[in-house]
Amino acid sequence: MLKRYRYRAYPTGDQQQMLARSFGCSRVVFNDAIAARQTARAAGVKISDTDVQKQVVTEAKRTLERAWLGEVSSVVLVQACQDARRAYRNFFDSLAGKRKGRRIGAPRFRSRRDNRQSIRFTRNGFTVTRRGVRLAKIGDVKLEWSRELPSEPSSVSVIREADGRYYVSFVVDVAETPLPEAPTVVGVDLGLADLAAIARSDGVREKIAAPRHLRKVERRLARAQKALSRKQKGSSNRAKDRLRVARLHRRVRETRLDHHHKLAKRLIHENQVVAVEDLAVSGLARTWLAKSVHDAGWSILLRVLEEKAAQHGRQVIRIDRWTPSTRTCSHCGRIGEAKPLHIRQWTCDCGAHLDRDYNAAVNILDAAGLAESLNARGGDVRLALASAGPAETGTHRTDPDHPVEAA
Ligand SMILES: [Zn+2]
Repeated sequence: MLKRYRYRAYPTGDQQQMLARSFGCSRVVFNDAIAARQTARAAGVKISDTDVQKQVVTEAKRTLERAWLGEVSSVVLVQACQDARRAYRNFFDSLAGKRKGRRIGAPRFRSRRDNRQSIRFTRNGFTVTRRGVRLAKIGDVKLEWSRELPSEPSSVSVIREADGRYYVSFVVDVAETPLPEAPTVVGVDLGLADLAAIARSDGVREKIAAPRHLRKVERRLARAQKALSRKQKGSSNRAKDRLRVARLHRRVRETRLDHHHKLAKRLIHENQVVAVEDLAVSGLARTWLAKSVHDAGWSILLRVLEEKAAQHGRQVIRIDRWTPSTRTCSHCGRIGEAKPLHIRQWTCDCGAHLDRDYNAAVNILDAAGLAESLNARGGDVRLALASAGPAETGTHRTDPDHPVEAA
């Protein structure tokens, strides 16, 4: 299975210039490739991948307006073509209903104003060295080897983040290490106040708090974003604020990633199947918290979960985010009124007194087709898992590393 290994990179001034040029060329090729496909589609003409590449790389280099494409590694340009092809294919598969999950929009053109710039080198464009990585037409870039690469990588991306830091991300094929079968399955409701509420088929439930530190940085980020939005375009204060936002973004991202790794590791080790909502952001994130942060956070958690599941022989089931997991009573199945965020518990007409998050987690188990695992255990497990019972006075919160509460 393929895994990513990411390291901080320290390109020299010259290398940064060369990278900037490569980002730019890669962007132009990507955009030209998308445009070529769009034009062909509008004209009702089929255009092959080879044709696109020939047109936007090989032939483009011979023209006056695109001659400068020759200054950067062609490996990078070919990869930009591949990216465009994939973006286009995902779009069409999504249109045709061949792709699971939410609808994907038509491929967006890349902009020089995009916060994150990246290029990719395949095997023939880089060599791993003792101090870092040797990139075609860029040279030896120094890396901080924070952990060892397990084997030869098949490709490497060079990324410049919005805060000006550089990273490289290697794709490495690692061996699978299946775990012995686990007795339980679990439904996970991802939230804002809590990182997650967990309902396990053996009647164990748990709420995992977002770490205090993370919440603090998130609040600072929200304030910084507000400040940024008030600044005049093009002013020097705006540039300063933008950098501050980017730095805070990174801190939120890194802290979050760390916690997601711990959570994913536990869920995958303890359970045979993990059911989780596919980006429940729609309604939730329209609070004062930055939407993009949550979007990113959750999709990263899903990715980490799936990565670990693949590695350990487990299964992750994504639930459509339109399933009204919050409004449906997990005891009787009745779909109630929409529940604003501040309602943490309520009583259904059937008499069940429900905890918002645990109820959602049980519904997610159901939606994943795992209801059997609960029903098999007899009548009360389901209700005990979802109820706002006395065991739940206040909210019992735990650290991702630590344990569980029996319902
Ligand atoms: Zn009910």
